[in-house]
Amino acid sequence: MHAKPPEKKWKAGVLGATGVVGQRLVQMLGNHPWFDLTEVAASERSSGRTYAEAVRWHLDAPIPDAARGLVVKGLDLSLDCDFVFSALDSSVAGTAEEDFARAGYPVVSNSRNHRMDPDVPLLIPEVNAAHLDAIPLQQKNRGYDTGFIVTNPNCSTAGLVLVLKPLVDAFGLEKIFVVTLQAISGAGYPGVASLDIQGNVVPFISGEEEKMEAEPQKLLGKWDGSRFVDAGIGLSAHCNRVPVIDGHLECVSIGLKKIASLDEVREALRNFEVDADLASLPTALRNPIVVLDEENRPQPRRDVNAGNGMAAVVGRVRECPLLDVKLTLLSHNLVRGAAGAALLNAELLAVRGFLKHRRAPSESRLAEPVSR
Ligand code: NAP
Repeated sequence: MHAKPPEKKWKAGVLGATGVVGQRLVQMLGNHPWFDLTEVAASERSSGRTYAEAVRWHLDAPIPDAARGLVVKGLDLSLDCDFVFSALDSSVAGTAEEDFARAGYPVVSNSRNHRMDPDVPLLIPEVNAAHLDAIPLQQKNRGYDTGFIVTNPNCSTAGLVLVLKPLVDAFGLEKIFVVTLQAISGAGYPGVASLDIQGNVVPFISGEEEKMEAEPQKLLGKWDGSRFVDAGIGLSAHCNRVPVIDGHLECVSIGLKKIASLDEVREALRNFEVDADLASLPTALRNPIVVLDEENRPQPRRDVNAGNGMAAVVGRVRECPLLDVKLTLLSHNLVRGAAGAALLNAELLAVRGFLKHRRAPSESRLAEPVSR
């Protein structure tokens, strides 16, 4: 059962709409019960053309009709929308997201630039919805009025932390050792050259291990009313790029604070259920972790679309001779790790009253020039 549709839908813009993440967002917004896509923006290479002309569309589903004819704009601070998703390249996302927030737009970002800022929520609704309490302080600190920035984690962190959440709640976490096998779509388009990745594994992804070792601390930590307090978990990550299109697989060894049997760990994962309010968001799953019993699962080709790409799929829960328990998990890097994560964040912001209906730019102060 989904929450009641709002009386008036919110108008959404997508910054970076032509990229790999942006087009997933455009596709997922095509038939969204709460949000209408009204603006698409990208670089000068794309602006001025219709979305259908500008985008190199990678998805099997066709470009939604509502998006095809939209004219791609630049990073224009008078977009006709109530909030923006940002799927901008990180070389421009930092300043652009601040500019939009200062101009009054809630910014729901995929980019890494503001994730670790001390007043910006790094959000997974099923894990740390209470971190939204940081928004008023962010607005005060930065002199934002109705605007603010909320981010979702890096694509490999998203699946990992979702799976760790019921374990930290039930048993506490001491140490995590994780090795990733990450899909090429995680590198955007054109991403990794085919000559580098075909029949190969690349044991380095720039900045990825640092993100995986830092972001879970914030996500599983607490907002204490004035700052984020880290979870204080020992964490080591090895990140590898493998020739898979979509879906990051992760081999994880876990040290628990409290002794638990393998059955108790499996049950904690299998029984992880979000509350009814959260489950009623259009993109949410009641049970976002799927546990498989087959010894050779999860596999990217077979399992990546579980729960419409929003589930974390876990298998091979077994004893670890070094730590306590080990398992394999899979999550869709472009859905749970990017576009779907941002959409779910926006839905949570909507029900928590953080999204307002803005006047069209022609009738508001946004028509006036805004200094950058
Ligand atoms: P991408 O395919 O390279 O797309 C980048 C987007 O940014 C394109 O729309 C591009 O527009 C736009 N852009 C680049 N330079 C610009 C500029 N100077 N001004 C305005 N727009 C500009 O990258 P992606 O994989 O979609 O990633 C987007 C963001 O999400 C990145 O920050 C990335 O780190 C993050 N992220 C990605 C994933 C993933 O799995 N791929 C997961 C989580 C987070 P043009 O087409 O006009 O060049």
